[in-house]
Amino acid sequence: MIKLKSLQMQIKINNIRRAKSGPVLIFTDLDGSLLNHDDYSFEAARTALLMIRQLGIPLILCTSKTRAEVEVLRSELDMDDPFIVENGGGIFFPASYRGFHIPEAVHRNGYRMIPLGAPYPLVRIVVDHVRQHFPLRGFSDMETAEIARLTGLSVEQAAMAKKREFTEPLLLNEDVGKDDLLTPARAAGLRLVRGGRFWHLMGEGNDKGTAVELTKSIFQRHLSRPILTIGLGDSPNDFPLLRNVDVPVLIPHPDGEYETFDLPRIVKAPQSGSKGWNAVITTLLGELVRNGFSTNHE
Ligand SMILES: [Mg+2]
Repeated sequence: MIKLKSLQMQIKINNIRRAKSGPVLIFTDLDGSLLNHDDYSFEAARTALLMIRQLGIPLILCTSKTRAEVEVLRSELDMDDPFIVENGGGIFFPASYRGFHIPEAVHRNGYRMIPLGAPYPLVRIVVDHVRQHFPLRGFSDMETAEIARLTGLSVEQAAMAKKREFTEPLLLNEDVGKDDLLTPARAAGLRLVRGGRFWHLMGEGNDKGTAVELTKSIFQRHLSRPILTIGLGDSPNDFPLLRNVDVPVLIPHPDGEYETFDLPRIVKAPQSGSKGWNAVITTLLGELVRNGFSTNHE
């Protein structure tokens, strides 16, 4: 109860009233946020997901996962909203989503896609170059069964995780591998980001924050009133996402510890994974509705 009250206070500090009845967008990380770190379940977030659906709020998945993985989850969630894959490598809008006009997008696999990252073959060229001299392994170098064992994913899910378009998850020894990789990576216009279990090698423009900004701007130009954005994440690779939303929500790790992240007005979820996600979203949307929000439709 104390935790819930403190959560409501944190949300009030975010001055939700300024949203009035304007449209809302929610951006969320998946692993360790909407999905539990250990069992990848979103069952505990069912109430919040139902509220989001009833209020017509787009839920934009923003993850290090691949398009193939996100497509499976979207069908489980029964969702048709746009999504951001591979740490901001690409933004995918369903082909006829809300009649949106998106001239910056290219057509790919039935979506309108905005690429922000480098093409995967370029990323692999750098990995293969570094691998000649240093111990370093990416998903491309692993059998599906090994990826399953390392991640806790099923073999079927691991096969989806192997279908890369923009980034490569890497296992590397921090003492040796990181610096040896950084120099050739930078020379190729790539950068290295730490995720929950792996490091991720990606293009310079490959960024969750840029992807959030761009997605918001595409929604905003089709809506007359200012959008309120909510973002949820648990790891350093979510910091750009959290910096680019009006209400940033930090989810703790399963041990209860939060990443050190100094951002004004950050809301700290009371529990890890889908339980914490559910607590914050139900409280936040309840507060919005009390302040006059009805639906996202204008
Ligand atoms: Mg995460």
